[in-house]
Amino acid sequence: MNIKSWHTDKKPWIIAGPCSIETEAQFDDTVGQLVKNGIKTIRGGVWKPRTRPNSFEGVGEVAFPWIKAAKKKYNVDFAIEVASAEHVELALKNEIDILWIGARTTVNPFNVQEIAEALRGVKDVPILVKNPINPDLNLWIGALERLHDVGIEKIGAIHRGFSTYQESLYRNIPLWQIPLDLKSRFPELLLINDPSHIAGKRSLLFEIAQKAMNLQFDGLIIESHRNPDEAWSDAAQQLTPDALDDFIKNLEIRNPGF
Ligand code: PEP
Ligand code: MN
Repeated sequence: MNIKSWHTDKKPWIIAGPCSIETEAQFDDTVGQLVKNGIKTIRGGVWKPRTRPNSFEGVGEVAFPWIKAAKKKYNVDFAIEVASAEHVELALKNEIDILWIGARTTVNPFNVQEIAEALRGVKDVPILVKNPINPDLNLWIGALERLHDVGIEKIGAIHRGFSTYQESLYRNIPLWQIPLDLKSRFPELLLINDPSHIAGKRSLLFEIAQKAMNLQFDGLIIESHRNPDEAWSDAAQQLTPDALDDFIKNLEIRNPGF
């Protein structure tokens, strides 16, 4: 696989936004505050892969007009998770700028292949691939290859940590060697860290994000909500847009080339 670098913006690339899009007001308000603080790429879950049934599974397609309105009002790029060909088709039809494949999807070659086929011929939409929930570098590389093999040029990887049954400080243990091995195999691959899903709680976020910066990751994807404690998913790990702004200002960026 011959992965070429494509992301030319200043590093680190910060993607921020709520775990889930909940209501038009929650989304508009959160995006407005993030944009005021200089964020240019917004994330938000439309379909949520929940571990157990009967929890909030995302608002679904009703979010698309809200996203369209926010993109126009705030002039931002917008990223969502896709887990099937149908999600890809709806995302492209609704002019979503960036797609990511979630950790529970990366583990399944059938799903990834289906997503890749739905993206065949799409050149300008970046696709970011989260690590699989289990610590398997080859499965992560395999997903990247499936996308590469249908001609997608803007590919990136997101390190979001790995499931463990052991007692752990983290929600998902980082196992930093895995993304570093990925980077050494594919030096031009865009590599982003997701401290939110590694930490699972606000108190751990900063040290994870700082470590990613020290290791020269290319960016961060961080969950931010106007009222984290009231969030419908991942309440314990989200930051308000203003807390995120302080957080970013306190990061030491050791990447003087950018
Ligand atoms: C998310 O980004 O909200 C999410 C569900 O992430 P992951 O696939 O890393 O669990
Ligand atoms: Mn989340």
